[in-house]
Amino acid sequence: MAELTPMMKQYLEIKEQNKDSILFFRLGDFYEMFGSDARTASRELDLTLTTRDKDKNKSFDEKVPMCGIPYHSSEGYIARLIAKGYKVAICEQTEDPATAKGLVKRDIIRVVTPGTVLDDTSLEAGRSNFCAAAWLAEDKAGFAACDISTGQTHATAFSGPDAGVHLLNEVARFSPAEIILNDTAAQDAALRMLTENKLSCHREVREIDGPAARASIAGQFGEKVLSDFPADNFAPLLALGNLLHYLHETQKGDLHHIDTLDFYRQGQFMELDISARRNLELTETLRGKEKKGSLLWVLDKTKTAMGARMLRSWLERPLLSVRDIDRRADCVERLVNDTVTREELALALSGIGDMERLMSRIVYGSAGGRDVVALRAAMEKLPPIKRLLTVFPKGRLQELCRTLDTLDDLAGRIAATLQDEPPFSVREGEFIRDGFHPEVDRLRGILHGGKGLMASMEAQEKEKTGIRTLKIGYNKVFGYYIEVSNSFKDQVPDTYIRKQTLVNGERYITQELKNLESDILTASDRVSALEYELFTDLRTELAGQVSRIQASASAVAELDSLCSLASVAVSNGYCRPTVDDSGVLEIHDGRHPVVEKMRPDALFVPNDTYMGEKEGRAAIITGPNMAGKSTYMRQVALIVLLAQIGSFVPAKSARLGVVDRIFTRIGASDDLSAGQSTFMVEMTEVSDILHAATKDSLLILDEIGRGTSTFDGMSIARAVLEYCADPKKLGAKTLFATHYHELTDMEHSLPGVQNYNIAVRARGEEIIFLRKIVPGGADRSYGIEVARLAGLPEGVIARAKTILRELESEAGKPPAPMQEEADQVSLSSLAETEVLSRLRREQVDTLSPLEALNLLYELKQKLQ
Ligand code: ADP
Ligand code: MG
Repeated sequence: MAELTPMMKQYLEIKEQNKDSILFFRLGDFYEMFGSDARTASRELDLTLTTRDKDKNKSFDEKVPMCGIPYHSSEGYIARLIAKGYKVAICEQTEDPATAKGLVKRDIIRVVTPGTVLDDTSLEAGRSNFCAAAWLAEDKAGFAACDISTGQTHATAFSGPDAGVHLLNEVARFSPAEIILNDTAAQDAALRMLTENKLSCHREVREIDGPAARASIAGQFGEKVLSDFPADNFAPLLALGNLLHYLHETQKGDLHHIDTLDFYRQGQFMELDISARRNLELTETLRGKEKKGSLLWVLDKTKTAMGARMLRSWLERPLLSVRDIDRRADCVERLVNDTVTREELALALSGIGDMERLMSRIVYGSAGGRDVVALRAAMEKLPPIKRLLTVFPKGRLQELCRTLDTLDDLAGRIAATLQDEPPFSVREGEFIRDGFHPEVDRLRGILHGGKGLMASMEAQEKEKTGIRTLKIGYNKVFGYYIEVSNSFKDQVPDTYIRKQTLVNGERYITQELKNLESDILTASDRVSALEYELFTDLRTELAGQVSRIQASASAVAELDSLCSLASVAVSNGYCRPTVDDSGVLEIHDGRHPVVEKMRPDALFVPNDTYMGEKEGRAAIITGPNMAGKSTYMRQVALIVLLAQIGSFVPAKSARLGVVDRIFTRIGASDDLSAGQSTFMVEMTEVSDILHAATKDSLLILDEIGRGTSTFDGMSIARAVLEYCADPKKLGAKTLFATHYHELTDMEHSLPGVQNYNIAVRARGEEIIFLRKIVPGGADRSYGIEVARLAGLPEGVIARAKTILRELESEAGKPPAPMQEEADQVSLSSLAETEVLSRLRREQVDTLSPLEALNLLYELKQKLQ
């Protein structure tokens, strides 16, 4: 094989250590990629693939495929590769090519990964970007997550036979962009399915030992935090240690903004599993995966990105202690009652930049002049907020007022140093404020007044020498010179050094002239370098104040979230619920917070709910399709959830006993991709619920047993309900919607079970949905009427009625065959008609591929 060039050798050495990343290799003004990296990048980024210098065609590296991108526009390219799940290792020239002897030194300055991006192109403003770690060992598990764009870090521990399940829910809650797993966790099938299929998060497998983990945690957060960790479960320690190790390995830069660890215990927050989270559409809709139509969409009226992130995290972590809930709800109530302050606060909060993410970039050293000026603008908005908060004499709002540091000194320091609108680059000068530094001012004077300075020197020399024709000129060969015509040659002073003789004169230089010249020629470089130095001083100083600034940012975020909850409560007519440990759920005129907002023109019919520990513990809800069963059940769950994040709720009044968890089993799932049938998924979910629920849980079970044959389905549904409702077994509060009317007889056999139905009125052939929940089972299912509403052909409807009558009169006996003269509809073509009408109704272009697959599956089943 031909010799490698020295540069290619250097490349291969660096590549060897970064095999799993795409290597961006800095060459002059470009980042170049070689070999398979170049092939990948050219495919993913639509770049042209070339080879180096084909003609010479002798050495190995000259035939290697390559492609490149200009370094100044790299951010967008990196963001695109990260979004596609790649990691990018950035290799820079670490010495100045102009002064380097031989090959320029190069080194990796950072590896950008999905969980560690810092630039705005890759980050979503209202959402944290977590890099997580999970450690699994037999019956112990540990979880840690860090958002390096804000510095926020959490960790927790799980023990016991269900440790793995809790871990799974925690991973789903944080929904990290990237996760570091130990070998055991990496081999866990459920964790793999969740991370790869549902969250599509980037997986890294690493191991770490105890001492190394302790050292990296102590190094990051101080020795003291080690005592937060449980003595009998080392898994969280190893998870966090693994995470920190990975962050340092990839980031290389300063990460001291990651300085507080939130070690939380189980029982502090309500655990929500992935199906509850998705079925209740907390942060995105089930079908479109959009924010619009989710609970967050209704609640989020925050004015800052920091507030948006905090509100989202509240929604993802409802509280469990009445004290914590009341503390938050007290603030919301005060803000609800004080309209003037609430509205002024909303105005004052508007437009505050993302201080948390700006600070991370400042600490990390990647912030530019504009970032720092944006931070100053944010700081300058703090004093009015503090003033507004002084009206609250006590409670958390008063505490926020006290802890909100308005950072005047830092804002002043930035204002004195940087111009109001600095240019994008911090390398080319012109951003330090005039008057801040005498040397900058002097160099700028030279830079801008270069010509003027020469003119005044010319005037001075004329006066000193008395040579009227003396001129200062410039040429490329020896720069500035003084020209004197022959007639004045005798008057030239000794200090003049002759440089050139012309036909009618001589050219000279002087030391003074050359000094001035070098000042002018180098002023530009010197001032840029000096300005950059002054800028990095400022950046370092700000980085030193990171905890102060982050504390203010967090106060702003909390206040913004509270204001958002208050303004939503006011504009949507919510009430403050009484939250206690009574175990009773009592709601008057409750509404579904999202459905009422999605269709503002339609009237939403409010409904009451009563569920006690004994009486009304379980409700069987019947009623025709489309009556509103699912909506009602979700509404109860959402009201409970809202109450437990400290929010007001859509109702006239409510008294809500804290529930430990909310479980849901609703609708079709999309797990066909994982090779499981809908019924199998349904049963797995039900089984998970029955294992994990307690008597303090709220269960929403919607049409259990739908995915199998009638008798199977009904038997399973009855058995599940018996188990849930029976105080000797689970005895949980259960809302159970079913189309099996036969189940309504359980009201008599099981204490605490009550029948409800959602009222409809039949008028002749038509039905009207009343949307009111009333006691008692539904008298009939009105399936045929609903089918008519859906547009089934009249012939089919008529035939269905005949069949129904026959079935009802001689229960069990198969329906009489069709009369010859009747419409030619057999039972099998009935199914076909149903399939056809379903196809007509379906809006194919709004279906996801998975939903389409589900639909196909369902239709096929109908035909069999
Ligand atoms: P079911 O589960 O009984 O088939 P859904 O809960 O899916 O019925 O409700 C069907 C539709 O009825 C919903 O999409 C919603 O628009 C409407 N709806 C449900 N409850 C109400 C209500 N209380 N007030 C107004 N409209 C409602
Ligand atoms: Mg339903």
